[in-house]
Amino acid sequence: MKIPADVRGAMIAHALEEDPNECCGLLAGSDGVVRKHYRITNAERSPYRYSMDGRELNAALREIDDSGWELQVIYHSHTHSPAYPSDTDTRLAANWPDPYYLLISLLDKESPDVRMFTIADGAVTEEEFEVA
Ligand SMILES: [Zn+2]
Repeated sequence: MKIPADVRGAMIAHALEEDPNECCGLLAGSDGVVRKHYRITNAERSPYRYSMDGRELNAALREIDDSGWELQVIYHSHTHSPAYPSDTDTRLAANWPDPYYLLISLLDKESPDVRMFTIADGAVTEEEFEVA
């Protein structure tokens, strides 16, 4: 999986804009290539959890489907904890087992930590990704 450097930068910018609340969004594309970055409103507006706005999520999923893309990455920020899925994140991932989970930690705002995982059957596995 390759994450374009500008997309990585845009996700970090999103996290910093929403700080102290968590941000969330999606990356979609095909053949391992990211075609589009979707910012989705965190309906919880909370520093401790996120829930993607249903209308925005559905619009994004429809466009992804219409474009013949796949949902590649679900990302969100942790403003007060490391870039590692929480128990809640792991539980919620049961509903969406296929995409990668990318987490952005703002513990160090000068140099936010970005890490990616797969979460299958409650097991969290860190995945390598390339910034291209
Ligand atoms: Zn989380």
